[in-house]
Amino acid sequence: MAKTIQAIRGMNDTLPEISGTWQRVESTLRQVVANYGYQEIRTPIVESTDLFKRSIGEVTDIVEKEMYTFEDRNGDSLTLRPEGTASCVRAGNEHGLLYNQQQRLWYLGPMFRHERPQKGRYRQFHQFGVEAYGLDGPDIDLEVILLSARLWKAFGIADKVSLQINSLGSNEARQAYRDALVTFLKARADQLDEDSLRRLESNPLRVLDSKNPQVQAAIADAPSLLDHLDDESRQHFSQLCERLTQAGIEYEVNPRLVRGLDYYNRTVFEWVTDSLGAQGTICAGGRYDGLVEQLGGKATPAVGFALGMERLVLLLTTLQGDQQDSSSADVYVCILGDEAQSYALGVAEELRDSLPQVRIMMHCGGGNLKKQLKRADKTGASVALLLGNEESQNQQVVIKPLRDGSEQATMALGQLSGYLESLLGE
Ligand code: ATP
Ligand code: MG
Repeated sequence: MAKTIQAIRGMNDTLPEISGTWQRVESTLRQVVANYGYQEIRTPIVESTDLFKRSIGEVTDIVEKEMYTFEDRNGDSLTLRPEGTASCVRAGNEHGLLYNQQQRLWYLGPMFRHERPQKGRYRQFHQFGVEAYGLDGPDIDLEVILLSARLWKAFGIADKVSLQINSLGSNEARQAYRDALVTFLKARADQLDEDSLRRLESNPLRVLDSKNPQVQAAIADAPSLLDHLDDESRQHFSQLCERLTQAGIEYEVNPRLVRGLDYYNRTVFEWVTDSLGAQGTICAGGRYDGLVEQLGGKATPAVGFALGMERLVLLLTTLQGDQQDSSSADVYVCILGDEAQSYALGVAEELRDSLPQVRIMMHCGGGNLKKQLKRADKTGASVALLLGNEESQNQQVVIKPLRDGSEQATMALGQLSGYLESLLGE
């Protein structure tokens, strides 16, 4: 036998047993964003490498070591997108969506990062995200957070996730804070791990984000970002906090919360859960008021978040078990005898016309009634139609209930659609 070929490490197949759950999750997400007036944007999976370098930042984990970058046949450097915001801004600028305008957008699709695969962390993963442009007040920050909170309600996991927020202030305020932090960290360099020492040189705020308990202990008394905010950012943040409270959203201010991407300023937030082990952040976002201009557009305030789909699906299946309806059909059409073939096909096609919501599966490949009913049972169908020569001649159908133990019955073809509709309709 030929050697089998495997998927790339960290890139998953979504098999039929779980794809129904994904579809239901996606449909709820779509419904909730539409509920807030957000519109979908779809962008290519591949972009110029420059786009991500200029937006995410040269000295971030993503750009330094996680991107799938390659040269195409023209010698251009391309990258599989590691996140969605940069592409949204690129597309918005390119098509004039952002210039003096307000936009509320959402996207859903695969992202690629060369990370060490583990539960909740993959090399191809999917993000659902929203982005709002052209609005700079705390009211829109509140809106995207409210929208995310509504998602948890819709999925029945509101009590399993909690909100952490922080403000990074303006770029200038952050620069001043960075200096204070570097002084603090340098005095404790002997207590930092290798990763943090590297970050101390390249991107010191990221040391705050270290998952190493020893590092966390060493920086317990580090200066707080919130003490270094510029006045406007301080006001923006306190207004947001006030409105969150008014809206009944519980939150915790976490002065250590920084994001792994350079473009954020002011509000940042994460929704975290302790039901998933180490990969506890299921949704993260914030303001990125400088990015549109940085990518060549007119200065435009922006705020958004991205939600990790795999982590959400994992959380739902962990908490709520497998609610998957694994059936593939409602009605299974059995064909008894070659001459009934075209009659059966006609019946199935007519039913598909009159009952487009009903899943009708035709038996293929012949075999006796027993074999066909075994197949029917496997699909999870609630009824089988038994169609033979006699039924064909009389324009009738035999209906065999498969689940409730009731008797099979014969009826005129003309009554079938109405009967099935009331049987399967609820
Ligand atoms: P983390 O700290 O977990 O690495 P991050 O800060 O890199 O997250 P973002 O870039 O903000 O994550 O992405 C937003 C969300 O996308 C994350 O909160 C997470 O739910 C999801 N996500 C990020 N990277 C991965 C991955 N490699 N596999 C699965 N989901 C991911
Ligand atoms: Mg990461």
